[in-house]
Amino acid sequence: MNRSLDLTELHWLLAITQSIDVGVVVFDRQFNVTVWNTFIENHSGVPAREAQGKSFFSLFHEVDQTWFTRKVESVITLGSPSFTIWEQRPHLLKFETYQPITGSEPFMYQNTTLFPLRSINNQVEHICLVVYDVTEVATNRRQLQTVNAQLQKLSSTDRLTGLYNRGHWEEALKHEYARHSRYGNDCTLIMFDIDHFKQVNDTYGHPGGDRVIQRVADLVREHVRDSDICGRYGGEEFALLLPDTDKEGGQILAERLRASIEETVVEHDGKLIRFTISLGVADLHRPAADHQELIERADQALYNSKRSGRNRVTVHA
Ligand code: GH3
Ligand code: MG
Ligand code: MG
Repeated sequence: MNRSLDLTELHWLLAITQSIDVGVVVFDRQFNVTVWNTFIENHSGVPAREAQGKSFFSLFHEVDQTWFTRKVESVITLGSPSFTIWEQRPHLLKFETYQPITGSEPFMYQNTTLFPLRSINNQVEHICLVVYDVTEVATNRRQLQTVNAQLQKLSSTDRLTGLYNRGHWEEALKHEYARHSRYGNDCTLIMFDIDHFKQVNDTYGHPGGDRVIQRVADLVREHVRDSDICGRYGGEEFALLLPDTDKEGGQILAERLRASIEETVVEHDGKLIRFTISLGVADLHRPAADHQELIERADQALYNSKRSGRNRVTVHA
């Protein structure tokens, strides 16, 4: 009576193991497979009767044998489970995914658990590997990360030029100012403004003016270093933050930029647009109360360039 109940339960257990939507593999201490459920059968393409008695590693060539053996040994020695998670190891077994959520996830993301199976004599003779398909969770998480990165980029850059917008640029300046306060490294600021830009708009139309602004941004990118932080400060005003650069270095860059813009011709609607810029340079050589004061110094220098005839560089005294 009791015995037949046990057998029924065993059948149930087997049926459950076969039908659940997780992978179950049991192998002995020599890594020879004894249980291989339907999930594993379906995803590996290897029928249970073929897997029986075969070495786990001959069935899964992708598994790093040294690493996995060490993991299994610790499960046996400690008598406690061990896990892998997709964030650290996207998959243990290389199964293709059938979910056409995105074309970009060719393999099933997996969390796995390894745990010891004790026999009647309380010895660990077998190990059970359970494989969870977490592709949907992983895909969603990764898509969310991508979207967040895109949003971050969109919220920090200016649409027309691709340079940083004013908000982001000012944050960067604040950060650089704090770095300067602590470590005393050089830091120079260039601010510049396109000369008589209202005339450009009036003569060539707003789209012509936009083309000029875009070309200025391109020229800025051509001239600066990767570490320089370039922003569109206002309509036709730009700000360049040059970390670890002294005033002389800043002045050289400003002059190069001025000269190259003077030589530039933008073609728009069959017409040729020429234009110039006025620049102001300031650095943190003399202590400033805050980052705002550095902006004011560069702006003053820029104003002096405008007042003394435009198309020139002025360095703050
Ligand atoms: P100044 O030499 O003194 O700088 O003269 P300016 O004509 O450039 O004077 P101001 O700086 O006051 O003029 C800026 C003009 O830039 C006014 C505004 O209509 C125009 N502007 C601002 N943003 C944009 C933009 O995104 N596209 C275009 N096409 N024009 C813009
Ligand atoms: Mg202006
Ligand atoms: Mg202007």
